[in-house]
Amino acid sequence: MAAINQDILRAQLETRKQRLDAAMARAGRNGEFERLMHEVDHALERMEEGTFGICESCHEHVGDEWLRVNPLAKYCIEHLNLEQQRELQADLDMASHIQRGLLPKPDVKMDGWELHFHYAPAGPVSGDYCDVIPPANGGGDSYFLLGDVSGHGVAASMLMTQLHATFRSLVSLGLPVNKLVETANRIFCESVPTGQYATLVCGRANRSGEVEISNAGHLPVLAVQSGKVARLGATSVPLGMFCLGNFPVQKIQLGAGDSLVLFTDGLSEARNARDAEYGIARLTNLVGQRHTLSPSALVEACLSDVKTFSNGAARADDQTLMVLRRAA
Ligand SMILES: [Zn+2]
Repeated sequence: MAAINQDILRAQLETRKQRLDAAMARAGRNGEFERLMHEVDHALERMEEGTFGICESCHEHVGDEWLRVNPLAKYCIEHLNLEQQRELQADLDMASHIQRGLLPKPDVKMDGWELHFHYAPAGPVSGDYCDVIPPANGGGDSYFLLGDVSGHGVAASMLMTQLHATFRSLVSLGLPVNKLVETANRIFCESVPTGQYATLVCGRANRSGEVEISNAGHLPVLAVQSGKVARLGATSVPLGMFCLGNFPVQKIQLGAGDSLVLFTDGLSEARNARDAEYGIARLTNLVGQRHTLSPSALVEACLSDVKTFSNGAARADDQTLMVLRRAA
């Protein structure tokens, strides 16, 4: 994950200050505005002094993740008072609830396709992005999306929900897949202030088995055709890096029973107690051997193999796995 950039943060805080000024000019003096203005000024002063991001209680760095969520933070999460901690917990619970509400059903049947996914945040919220958009009238193009926002926790989850909303609105315009991702990237770029980015696979499948995939800096998609597994690697950089990017698509033709397997690094980079990595090669082999399974059974088989490999080692990252299969 990119380290937080203080110049960008300072510019953001200056903008907030101007907006507050404008709001105060319109609304007149107001205790809440003045308190906020004071907090923003204080944060800017701390940047000048070089004490920005340092906890006033323990004098350790409060952490980039926490600063992304709250650039006015004066205390690390451990040194918030009880009431502040309770508020934070309530916000997290709410965020977790909202995020789970955005997920599609784990088993989806679309025009000529079956899909199953598994989505497991490492904490209360996740930076993994997973969505499925069936054709509007039951027939036509089906969209599937899977991605990973840099970082973890609340800041990443906020960007994930933004991606979700962006793609949900753009898909209805019927753009070609490359234009769809290009437009989403522009919107994402404009609202990502601190050098965060998102890797993403955006795919569109039609009922005759043709699939178009744009892979923006994400891990390869495994394409299983007649039991042989090919890797469809990235065709562009992740979203959020350059506002004017191209997002070329790869086209493949899937026959009955062929499938696509999409995953995030929480799965392929799962580690065991000896710190060995699960790896894409092992996943590729497994998928090739078990390719006749239904999407849900294949997802189960992969998860169970990762679990066997990890052998009780704690899961460190969000894990998402999706299998899309052309109906036989
Ligand atoms: Zn502290």
